[in-house]
Amino acid sequence: MSRRLLDKARRRLAAESGVRANPWGGRLAVALVYPNTYHHAMSNLGFLTVYHLLNQRDDVLCERFFLPDAEDLKEHRNTGYPLFSLESGRFLDEFDLIAFSLSFENDYLHLPTIFELGRLPWRSHERDERSPLLLAGGICAFLNPEPLADVMDLFAVGEAEPILPSLLETLQENTGDRAELLVRLAQQPGLYVPTLYEAIYDQGGQFSGHRPLADIPARVERQYLSDLNQSPSLSFVLTPETEFGEMFLSEISRGCSRGCRFCAAGYIYLPPRERSFETLREQIDTGLCHRARVGLVAAAVSDHPDAPAIQRHILERGGEVSVSSLRLDALRQE
Ligand code: SF4
Repeated sequence: MSRRLLDKARRRLAAESGVRANPWGGRLAVALVYPNTYHHAMSNLGFLTVYHLLNQRDDVLCERFFLPDAEDLKEHRNTGYPLFSLESGRFLDEFDLIAFSLSFENDYLHLPTIFELGRLPWRSHERDERSPLLLAGGICAFLNPEPLADVMDLFAVGEAEPILPSLLETLQENTGDRAELLVRLAQQPGLYVPTLYEAIYDQGGQFSGHRPLADIPARVERQYLSDLNQSPSLSFVLTPETEFGEMFLSEISRGCSRGCRFCAAGYIYLPPRERSFETLREQIDTGLCHRARVGLVAAAVSDHPDAPAIQRHILERGGEVSVSSLRLDALRQE
């Protein structure tokens, strides 16, 4: 045990405000892992939104795991103390599901450290029935799941909001037969279980597709939230100990209509969708109670038809505005 590591986790938790994890007891337990440090993770809206979506359910609890800071990594290795959750200090193998939030390819390089500290066998076939299922979600997971196909048990192909309900309900109905559970999961929309597909090669040895090995869809369809107004994505947990700690972040749109060939955001989040000014105004007013600056998050903030009105509203309320990205050709005089 490392008193220093546990004290640091307690201090971090005490500095947070916002969503809290549900307590243990009778709930499906999900470990949400961000494969980078706390400082990076707590400014990631996808990570924070999944944390909120899971803990807003009565039948689920979700706790967070991070790549340890450099000095803490040394402490883990010196003491042999495993990776533990920020909230209750539990270890990864005490959870029913371990969900990795993969937003950046560079974070793949941290996965071996997390597996080592979490005492998880690397490949899926090395883990047995007692091991929690490992799921990868986030933009990297649905842009191309194959680099981690031997590692993860399943992938969320698409956005979390439409995928989570049937994933969680299927896990709640688990009878203990892992093989049967994986087939049932693969039958849900947007869930890809790599071990249930076989690669096909043509006569020249070129890869030509996948063949399902069970009664599951031949093709996994990407899922997306059709109406963003139904589900917010914002700084559900606020802490000063993160990159954008002085801001309240709010996603105003998802996807981009410009279709630049080099840009994944212009393709995998199609169709482009926006939150309405009315929805955002309410979120912003709440955010301004906690932070003086609002960070508007979108692939191209200036493409939102109400971008000027949103920014004006923040300024009129005495707040400051930051934007995640702008296109010069969409800037207006005002
Ligand atoms: S987000 Fe930017 S780079 Fe990507 S498609 Fe839109 S305008 Fe192009």
